Amino acid sequence: MKKAVYPGSFDPVTFGHLDIIKRASEMFDELIVSVLNNKAKTPLFSVEERVKILKEATKDLPNVKVDSFSGLLINYAAEHDLHIAVRGLRAITDFEYELQIAQTNKKLSHEELDTIFLTTSLEYSYLSSSSVKEIACFGGDISQCVPEFVEKLIHEKYANIDNK
Ligand code: ADP
Repeated sequence: MKKAVYPGSFDPVTFGHLDIIKRASEMFDELIVSVLNNKAKTPLFSVEERVKILKEATKDLPNVKVDSFSGLLINYAAEHDLHIAVRGLRAITDFEYELQIAQTNKKLSHEELDTIFLTTSLEYSYLSSSSVKEIACFGGDISQCVPEFVEKLIHEKYANIDNK
């Protein structure tokens, strides 16, 4: 069975991520979308919330599983017998960063973990989780960036933060 892992922060998941998930799910028998628990970042949504959101957003894709992990991707991949990581590329600015991570993972895993890149569909090339958060925190329209239920959850989060 051909399996791959799509790791990321997904804080929150956008149509850009969902486009990569759908296309990757057509290339593999099983795709595991795994939320990185990055202690260095203060996320808008907890890991548990992000996992729940991703499960809902991918519920129509039967071969997509959602999970989470902490620490190094290579250790998580080894534990789950995963040898391919999927990452998305938007612009040239993603390339340098992604290339460095991919090469580091390959070296650290003794060639056990390789990375494949899917280039973004043009309509999503401008989209990032951070710009979605920035627009939403000023009350802007994010309906073209994330699914409707995610839009609602983001606005609820900011309403709660504002009330504190
Ligand atoms: P990270 O914090 O690990 O970069 P993200 O959740 O921001 O996690 O992104 C996960 C992956 O999805 C990365 O490979 C990123 O380049 C890719 N990605 C993010 N937004 C888009 C998009 N709009 N189109 C294609 N790929 C994207």
